[in-house]
Amino acid sequence: MNIFVLMKRTFDTEEKITISGGIINEDGAEFIINPYDEYAIEEAIQVRDAHGGEITVISVGNEESEKQVRTALAMGADKAVLINTEDDIENGDQFTTAKILAEYLKDKEVDLILAGNVAIDGGSGQVGPRVAELLNIPYVTTITKLEIDGSNVTVVRDVEGDSEIIETSLPLLVTAQQGLNEPRYPSLPGIMKAKKKPLDELELDDLDLEEEDIEAKTKTIEIYLPPKKEAGKVLEGEIADQVKELVRLLHTEAKVD
Ligand SMILES: Cc1cc2nc3c(=O)[nH]c(=O)nc-3n(C[C@H](O)[C@H](O)[C@H](O)COP(=O)(O)OP(=O)(O)OC[C@H]3O[C@@H](n4cnc5c(N)ncnc54)[C@H](O)[C@@H]3O)c2cc1C
Repeated sequence: MNIFVLMKRTFDTEEKITISGGIINEDGAEFIINPYDEYAIEEAIQVRDAHGGEITVISVGNEESEKQVRTALAMGADKAVLINTEDDIENGDQFTTAKILAEYLKDKEVDLILAGNVAIDGGSGQVGPRVAELLNIPYVTTITKLEIDGSNVTVVRDVEGDSEIIETSLPLLVTAQQGLNEPRYPSLPGIMKAKKKPLDELELDDLDLEEEDIEAKTKTIEIYLPPKKEAGKVLEGEIADQVKELVRLLHTEAKVD
C-alpha cells in the first residue's frame, strides 16, 4: 500500500507567542510537528504494519523543516520529501500549499493519504480537503478510527463529540482527529535509522510549477493577540447590595441593556 502523510512544521503554541510588525515572531519560538500530524504518522505506521507497503512523509516548508521530517522518519516513516519553497515564494496560503502538495502527488500511485485535521498555527483545516479535491479522490475529515479491508474502508469520524461511521474506498484522504491513536515517541534505534532513510529535497522547479500557478488566493490583513484579560471584580457586603451593585455594573460597564 502506498501511504503518504502530509506534515506541517508549526511553532509550539504552548510556548509564548509574540507578534511584531503584524507577523508572528519566530525568533526563540519552539518548532514541532503539528500535533495532529503525529496522529496521522502513527496511523500510517499502524496501517503499513498491518497491510504492508511504504510511508512517504511530505512537507512544504524550508530547510529548517528537516528536523521535524527526520523525527517523522525516526517514528517509523520509510522516506520523506521536503518541498522547500523558501527561495521561490514570499506569500502563500492554503491554496498555495495544497496546490504544491497535489502537484507532487498527482502522478504517484496513491492508496492512502493522511493529514492532520488542522494545523495549530494557521488553523484553517483546509489543506487536506483541498489536496483531495485537486487529486479528485474522496476524503473524510476528523477521523477517530480507520479500518481497511482490501480496498474498502470504514471510518469513524468525530462530529463535535458525536460519532459518524462512513464507508468509502481507496484511494482516500483522511484527516486525523485527537483520539485516533497514541503517537509513539521515536526510539533511539529509530533516530539512528532515520539518519540514513531517504529524504528528497525538491524545489518548485522540480515540480514544473510557476509562481503564478500557486499565487495565494487570500491576503492576511492583520494578525493580533487577543486583548489582555483585565482583573475580575469581587463584590463585597450584603447579598442584596451585591446584587444591586452587579446590576449597576452590568449596565454601566458591560453595557447590557
Ligand atoms: C510559500 C508559502 C508562503 C507562505 N507565506 C505565508 C505568509 O506570508 N504568512 C502566513 O501567515 N502564512 C504563510 N504561509 C502558510 C500558509 O498560509 C498556511 O499556513 C498553510 O497553507 C497551511 O494552512 P493551515 O495552517 O491553515 O493548515 P491546515 O489546513 O489547518 O492544516 C491541516 C493539515 O494539512 C497539512 N498541511 C498543512 N500545511 C502543510 C505543509 N506546509 N506541508 C505539508 N502538509 C501541510 C497537515 O497535515 C495539517 O495537519 C505560506 C505557505 C507557503 C507554502
